[in-house]
Amino acid sequence: MTRDDLRAVLADIGVADKQLRMRVSQIWSWLYAHGVREFDQMTNIAKELRDKLAAAYTLERLDMAEAHLSADGTRKYLFRLADGQLVETVYIPEMGRGTLCVSSQVGCTLTCRFCHTGTQKLVRNLSAAEITGQMVAARDDLDDWGQNEQSNSGTRKVTNVVMMGMGEPLYNSNNVAAALNVMSDGDGLSLSKRRITLSTSGVVPEIADMGEKTGVMLAISLHAVTDELRDELVPLNKKYPIEDLLAACRNWPGLSNAKRITFEYVMLKGVNDSDADARALVKLLAGIPAKINLIPFNPWPGAPYECSDAARMQTFADIVNRAGYASPVRRPRGRDIMAACGQLKSASVKQSAAEKKKAELATRNLGR
Ligand code: SAH
Ligand code: SF4
Repeated sequence: MTRDDLRAVLADIGVADKQLRMRVSQIWSWLYAHGVREFDQMTNIAKELRDKLAAAYTLERLDMAEAHLSADGTRKYLFRLADGQLVETVYIPEMGRGTLCVSSQVGCTLTCRFCHTGTQKLVRNLSAAEITGQMVAARDDLDDWGQNEQSNSGTRKVTNVVMMGMGEPLYNSNNVAAALNVMSDGDGLSLSKRRITLSTSGVVPEIADMGEKTGVMLAISLHAVTDELRDELVPLNKKYPIEDLLAACRNWPGLSNAKRITFEYVMLKGVNDSDADARALVKLLAGIPAKINLIPFNPWPGAPYECSDAARMQTFADIVNRAGYASPVRRPRGRDIMAACGQLKSASVKQSAAEKKKAELATRNLGR
């Protein structure tokens, strides 16, 4: 719930006007700073009000159907939503920080050719509660509540959030914006806006609005320097070509050297990884305060691409480096549990295919 939702709920169950402000801030803190799981733990709230809340509302978490731990410490969670749909969230621990990669949709309506999520048909938008709920559930699992005043200080486990999981966040703008504003509320989950990054494949008309509503950091999935190639890799480019996309970037609210845009570029062998591509990339971004993030392509079953060779990526990175962008190659995390960039795809579709096969086999055997 947002603060406005909470206020409406409390007014609705009879909290007096003059008490509303105080009750909202008390309950807000229990929910998002302390992560309580029972209304009875809200010790500064009268028993009568706690009972009323418990009768009408729940503090239930997303149902964690599976959790996988990678050899490198990355965790992948599979959550089962109330309607049975499945969605994935990934936690990536690093020195001095921990990043939670959050999903915005079940599947994705877009079909970027290098992305596993793009092959998943099933799709619906996640509610704001389901988006924030991923962070709440991760804090439970990581025992990361309490000590709110120390958030972002190094003792917190989830210090950063990236909207880089399943789905295109700008096709679910309202819910994503509401969730990000809950996450960045200083009296609650308390993540700094500087530590929240939203990645988009380039839904141009939604970009500025999201910046204004949330003040978070922006990442753009660029991946190609010509419209011809980007049309193929990121088909949304046919609707919003590179020129329009970069114009939207130049207008990003608050854009400055302190608030640079990250450009993501997946390294595909023989497709977009030549020296000429690297030079064209830095030329294209000239004048935009930017970081460049080279992502080694992460393979998935049936993928039509391969990852560029290490030496090729290094040469590409050197060109980008010489143009003034520091250490741009992203280290793949959680590949062994299919948790790396572009590998997410919830089991729902796969399972039903497997089940179909099993059922088919069973009928065939019966026939014999
Ligand atoms: N839908 C949003 C958010 C996903 S972010 C977007 O596309 O921006 C995930 C990032 O990983 C994106 O930059 C995406 O293009 C990239 N990606 C997708 N598939 C990948 C793969 N197989 N290997 C490496 N990166 C991939
Ligand atoms: Fe969707 Fe992003 Fe994957 Fe493209 S890269 S299919 S926009 S999740």
